[in-house]
Amino acid sequence: MLSFTDARRKVVEIVTATRPQPAAEVVDLMRAAGRVLAFAISADRDYPPFNRSTRDGFALRSSDAGSPGAVLRRVGEVKAGSSYDRAVAAGECVQIMTGAPVPSGADAVIMVEFSKLDAAGDRVTFDRAASPGQNIVTRASEARAGEELLPAGTRLGYAEMALAAQVGAAQVRLTVPPRVAILSTGDEVVDVSATPGPFQVRNGNSTALGTLVARAGATPVQLGNAIDESGALRRAMERGLQADALILSGGVSMGKYDLVEKVLADLGAEFFFDGVAIRPGRPAVFGRCQGKPVFGLPGNPVSTMVTFELFVVPALDLLSGTAARPLQVLGARLSHALREKGGLTHFLPARIDWLQGEPVVAAISWQGSGDTVTLARANALMVVPAERPDWEAGEWVGVIPR
Ligand code: AMP
Ligand code: MG
Repeated sequence: MLSFTDARRKVVEIVTATRPQPAAEVVDLMRAAGRVLAFAISADRDYPPFNRSTRDGFALRSSDAGSPGAVLRRVGEVKAGSSYDRAVAAGECVQIMTGAPVPSGADAVIMVEFSKLDAAGDRVTFDRAASPGQNIVTRASEARAGEELLPAGTRLGYAEMALAAQVGAAQVRLTVPPRVAILSTGDEVVDVSATPGPFQVRNGNSTALGTLVARAGATPVQLGNAIDESGALRRAMERGLQADALILSGGVSMGKYDLVEKVLADLGAEFFFDGVAIRPGRPAVFGRCQGKPVFGLPGNPVSTMVTFELFVVPALDLLSGTAARPLQVLGARLSHALREKGGLTHFLPARIDWLQGEPVVAAISWQGSGDTVTLARANALMVVPAERPDWEAGEWVGVIPR
């Protein structure tokens, strides 16, 4: 059985080797958040476009204020959006605001907090020395005109959106997100709006998967639920294979009615793994069927959600035309001892908090992989590696915020 890192690597390898080039479309920047650039965005001019003051204060020649106590003549002012058109001469200073261009001649800005203006407003005493370049960001020090800032394949988070806006990319060329079919399976599964019989369950997985697919930047295509019968499964899977990827939940364990792999095989699927050394989620399946990546995720809701995060997210990144994001595992101090079963990497519902200057995490006791109630109370999954099942309170452990 593969470790989860090897299984994830396998997904990245196969999808990278077989993915089609995504289609592209032009979209208004305001509607582009979370999407992936199909075309690079470059600097339209130097950044900053002028030597910019980072403080409110006085622009001067640093050689005029090499030690505290210098007194200089205030000869004018410059605010953000305008300029001071004469050069600053020896013995002079110009009052300057944050974001304004530093006048020629000046090579430093002393903050207003360290300056005293006389009553007439034309002599300034400085109680700090200046050093060359102080409080100035020089022209083009962030980027040169024409420099590529956001390469094709960049996903637009808030900082990337801010940068695209700054360089005037009012419209952007984006990849079309992959359409991802979601198919739940199980005789016992009924629709969310239905009243379940005493031994039936409502379809939480399709809702969870729709949420996760959208959060990963792809477009969910909901196919509802198929019963555990070969013909019904086959018809629903054939519909799902019209999309760019197919995600199934349920029907991949060892039960007599777990038919998903068999029906996929009948449709020509090739499998790369059908078990991973993790809990929850051990029976997870990854294959390719009729040219499309297919995931058979275990039906227990927590297993479905955990295996999506581990294995499906990188595939959807790649299908979206961007690099597979690394798994975001952070460190936190364990608040209690842990004794888990070795040989499987465990992902335990946990709560992480910032306490006394460091992140502290505690597992939440739960009823196993069907326990959505506990997962909804958790804000992270604690990672207990297969090769290291025993942990003491106070050790640093890996956590995946959810
Ligand atoms: P399976 O993987 O098909 O053996 O299902 C494992 C468990 O997950 C069973 O208790 C199922 O009732 C439950 N389950 C399967 N599919 C869903 C679903 N779509 N929503 C909620 N629970 C489900
Ligand atoms: Mg089932």
